[in-house]
Amino acid sequence: MDSNLPLPARALAVGAHPDDVEFGCGATLAKWAAHGCEIFHLICTDGSKGTWDPATDPAELVVTRRKEQQAASIALGGRGEVVFLGWPDGELESGLRQRFEVASAIRRLRPDVVFGHDPWKRYRLHPDHRNAGFLVTDGIVAARDPLFFPELGDPPHRPKTLLLFEADEPDHLEDVTGFVEAKLAALLRHESQLRSTMGIARRGAENENQEVLDFRQRVTDRLAEHGREGGFAAAEAFKRIDKL
Ligand SMILES: [Zn+2]
Repeated sequence: MDSNLPLPARALAVGAHPDDVEFGCGATLAKWAAHGCEIFHLICTDGSKGTWDPATDPAELVVTRRKEQQAASIALGGRGEVVFLGWPDGELESGLRQRFEVASAIRRLRPDVVFGHDPWKRYRLHPDHRNAGFLVTDGIVAARDPLFFPELGDPPHRPKTLLLFEADEPDHLEDVTGFVEAKLAALLRHESQLRSTMGIARRGAENENQEVLDFRQRVTDRLAEHGREGGFAAAEAFKRIDKL
């Protein structure tokens, strides 16, 4: 298991939904941001189905989730710079139009490191996560080669490294000792998701505090588990691809 890339100047993290990036690589982004790396998010869908409450107005939820995602970027030490592609939640395809949009963002933002969902993770059910993963791999190919999408205004850009989170076969660790709190703070900015993805009932509920503590413990335990493989107090694990 190798570990700890040199500090990139710019990093772009691509998630299917608002909150995926914080779960996948939030602590690594926080670490790099603290050392001067510019961090950017790209979120493929509008998050409009991310609730268990059938009475939710999807249009309102989209607005809420955009604000939450920007707040999470700031909690990680970024400037709230988030590209929202706005595809309908649950219906993301890895088609040419979407690939064009991801390639466009890579050429414009010129990241040294790109993060994405591992599209080859076995037995993954959610199509948005699978398709968002393929959009990153395919978007990098289109961003780096000059004859792809000639209508893109920006010059080609080849990132140095792709780090896949939720990896089927992780082979790289980032030591995030000291940045667990930043990841948790960013996750908890996604207030609309507390119930459905973090097991925290509506805010103000009697048992909320215990549920928040339990959630923090689950995230902390997972980071500690990855850390043990590399001798770190806490780590995030990735599949690392350098041949881009
Ligand atoms: Zn997701």
